[in-house]
Amino acid sequence: MQRRLSAVLCALLFATPASAWDADGHRAVTSLAIEGISPQGPTWLKDKSVARRVADQSTVPDRWRGVKISQLQHANNPDHYFDVEDLAAYDLDLRRIASLRLEFVKQLLEIRVAKGWKLPPKPINPARDPDKTQEWPGFLPFAIVEQYGKVQSAFKVIRVLEAMKDPARAHQLEQAKADATVHLGILAHYVGDAAQPLHTTKHHHGWVGDNPKGYTTDRGFHSYIDGGILRHHRIDAETVRSACQFNRLVDGADPWNDVLAHLERSHAQVEPFYELKRTGDLEKETGKKAVEARLADGATMLAALVEAAWKAAEPGNKDIADFKRYD
Ligand SMILES: [Zn+2]
Repeated sequence: MQRRLSAVLCALLFATPASAWDADGHRAVTSLAIEGISPQGPTWLKDKSVARRVADQSTVPDRWRGVKISQLQHANNPDHYFDVEDLAAYDLDLRRIASLRLEFVKQLLEIRVAKGWKLPPKPINPARDPDKTQEWPGFLPFAIVEQYGKVQSAFKVIRVLEAMKDPARAHQLEQAKADATVHLGILAHYVGDAAQPLHTTKHHHGWVGDNPKGYTTDRGFHSYIDGGILRHHRIDAETVRSACQFNRLVDGADPWNDVLAHLERSHAQVEPFYELKRTGDLEKETGKKAVEARLADGATMLAALVEAAWKAAEPGNKDIADFKRYD
């Protein structure tokens, strides 16, 4: 029994190297965001059972990590993070990266060629890179906006069907809402990941490289922020609620810059989090407030994206005609 328990613990510790908030943190971000949706947004999400299902769905992209299909690991794992510091070697910063996933890969490769590099600018340890993903900074902002597009599409189908008011299409409307809850849950996951500062930095599992201030190098710091510190302070949706402002606006047609700003706010907290750990304040009231502020920012951003997607999905006559034509 004990051996089996330690095997399970090992699997939990090592199988999910960068899971971001534990399931409870992701659920809190998602349920708070749904609470924050205004009367102009998709208020049907506020139904208690719908909200609970979306919150549960927000944990799914981490479950994909447990399926050892290399194509899935290769595509999914780097969608959960973006190591902002990696851009410096390419003389880039977050605001100058290509906004399309493959264009971004091409951009980095072209810079490597121009600089005459045979290898990526950071050392790769093949033994610790089974997913063949380490040479890239990650793809989190792309994952967010791509998923935002799927949510907008799902919302559009709902709004078209609602406008048609055809009882014979009731099953389609029901399925469209189910589809929206699935895609929204996945969006919620990545927006939540981006709110966790350690998902925006090369210092994701303890400080690496020069360390004049003596920050922790403990690889466990990541999972401590994901869940340990939430349990220490008993942080949940109840305690985070008052920190949510729900005052953010997102460009519904092109949320790329808003998503970059979301990553920048989180990245700005990387060093403060290490400093809080170093001084011991992470376990005190200051630390509690800092972690709650990150979760609240995730919820506020998610609510803004949901509203923007809903508004952008308002159908015109052509949308309704096109739906009928291609249906
Ligand atoms: Zn994640």
